[in-house]
Amino acid sequence: MSTEKTARPVCVTGSLNLDLVCVLDRLPATGETLTARSYTTAFGGKGANQAVAVARLGGTARMIGAVGADDAGRSLRANLEENGVDAAAVLEATGPSGVAMIHVDAAGDNTIVVYQGANALLTPAWVRRSAAAIESSACLVLQLEIPLECVLEAARIAAGAGVPVLLNPAPARELPDELLSLCSIVSPNETELGILAGASGLEAGARALLARGVGAVVVTLGSRGCLYVDGKGSFEVPSFQVDAVDATAAGDSFNGALATMMAADEKITPDALAFCNAAGALAATTLGAQPSIPYLRDVQAFLDDRRSRHQPRP
Ligand code: ADP
Repeated sequence: MSTEKTARPVCVTGSLNLDLVCVLDRLPATGETLTARSYTTAFGGKGANQAVAVARLGGTARMIGAVGADDAGRSLRANLEENGVDAAAVLEATGPSGVAMIHVDAAGDNTIVVYQGANALLTPAWVRRSAAAIESSACLVLQLEIPLECVLEAARIAAGAGVPVLLNPAPARELPDELLSLCSIVSPNETELGILAGASGLEAGARALLARGVGAVVVTLGSRGCLYVDGKGSFEVPSFQVDAVDATAAGDSFNGALATMMAADEKITPDALAFCNAAGALAATTLGAQPSIPYLRDVQAFLDDRRSRHQPRP
């Protein structure tokens, strides 16, 4: 597996959010005011998370997206840059940035209210103005937290330039055949696969997506790992046992790792997917979105440790 920074970047077109997280003893009832035990802010949004994951996992990343004309917007952009992500194609839209207001209770249950803010103001025209950033990339990564017409426009530009597209179809929704037919890889979790494919069973669902023009499907299965399916066959790759605390950004870390492989022209082998599983498993051991996205050195040390435990003793 390549550990060098890939020369050609991954372009992520997607969302940026500021997460406002309150930890409380219990979740408030309607009309109730409670005092939180703690309050933190964290950078999030699936687009920004996956761009940061690429940069932390040894790739080169650039982002197309939108932030608001506010303090949150300025810190969302600065955070990308601090993580080594090229933010030149991040638009400053009028109005507030995207925010997620998250309440977590003592048992770890939560409620989340997302205000899309600037993410909803991204336009196909802005994506077209940033076409060169897509066309000169090794791969394009998409999710579904920006308007669907922007997702489709980015995919059309990539496919027109022969740039492979990875679509992480989250949050789940039905999608037009045209978008699916432009994707080299689609990476739903089990729930998303059910909504997208409407078929019962993982393989049947994945095959339904292949029939609609997707090149390959990687279904993420939480603590169980992932399932790879393409026209030639399928295989499962189990994940690693960890003390999971919070699965936020596990999928984003997994997808960042997958995009880094695609950009480095790595074949999607069981070994390559074990690297993606390791990135996701490590993210599940830490609270929050971007704070939990691992670095390449952490994933490599984790894999070395797990493999050495399975070496036969002399
Ligand atoms: P999402 O976060 O998008 O719902 P998943 O929950 O399927 O996606 O997690 C993405 C990947 O992260 C999984 O395929 C797996 O590799 C890893 N992962 C997530 N949770 C765990 C866990 N508890 N233990 C080990 N690996 C995990």
